[in-house]
Amino acid sequence: MQENFNQIQKEFDKDISQVSSLNDIEQIRIKYLSRNGIISNLFDKLREIPKENKREFGKSVNELRDYITNIYEIKKKEILSKSSQESSKIDLTLPANQIKIGSKHILTQTLEEIKEIFKSLGFSVFEGPELESDYYNFEALNFPDDHPARDMQDTFFISKKFLLRTHTSPVQIRVMEKNKPPVRAIMPGRVYRNEAINARSYCTFQQVEGLYVDKDVNFSELKGTLVSFAKQFYGNDLKYRFRPSFFPFTEPSAEMDITCFLCKGKGCKVCKNSGWLEILGCGMVDPNVFKYVNYDPEEYLGYAFGMGIERIALLKYGINDIRIFFENDIRFLRQF
Ligand SMILES: [Zn+2]
Repeated sequence: MQENFNQIQKEFDKDISQVSSLNDIEQIRIKYLSRNGIISNLFDKLREIPKENKREFGKSVNELRDYITNIYEIKKKEILSKSSQESSKIDLTLPANQIKIGSKHILTQTLEEIKEIFKSLGFSVFEGPELESDYYNFEALNFPDDHPARDMQDTFFISKKFLLRTHTSPVQIRVMEKNKPPVRAIMPGRVYRNEAINARSYCTFQQVEGLYVDKDVNFSELKGTLVSFAKQFYGNDLKYRFRPSFFPFTEPSAEMDITCFLCKGKGCKVCKNSGWLEILGCGMVDPNVFKYVNYDPEEYLGYAFGMGIERIALLKYGINDIRIFFENDIRFLRQF
């Protein structure tokens, strides 16, 4: 009988030495320690054992059960702690999670590019308030009261006297009030128009205004500066033209067009089949404006220009809806 116990113990030793998973350890429990397991069967056999041997048999089964249970428990702990370590292990060969890095908004990038180009042409940068008085937004820019030119820009009035600026041109007045000529500056900023929101227009957008005042400024210099800007911004092979236009604060006034980059001048939907795209307005500062800032119009001449940053970016990147700039859709923003 004792040989039988030794054999079971040997078999158990062999089985336990091969355990490597939670499933293996469970098989050991079922085989030796469950209700129908080997130990349980041995206890059942106790009934058939002759009375004089019962005590010794019982003792041996108890010893075998303690031996198996001890080793089984130790092995089970070992397997459990190993498996929990494995699940928390870092696999260094796995590809890393991509870190999403933010980027500057495309309008910020466009404005920065415009600023850099004009700085390299000798312009400094000024800013002014978005809440303006009627005086700076209209009157000092030669929009007299009740002048029809005031209707060119639909205005958000805050009160009779104050409004959200409709253009960055009032900053020209503020700069000239504070500085004696020569003045050579650009003035970027947000402007507001009471317009219906659609693919082409929005109630707010950004402009960059430019101003150069000195004793000997002429229209050719204005053209030269703007062509130099456009070539640096849109590329050297760009074609351009200037068309006569009207603004109350410049005389003469012009608008600058560049060849439509989409159809290369053949005509398409974006350029309304003209082959040209308007990129900015410009002109020689009207002598009336100089009177408001106490510059002598007999002594000084100046040029000014202004462009919409959204429009410049729409054209440069072939975007067909201005609203997308303000929606903060990350799928759009990530492309730049
Ligand atoms: Zn076109």
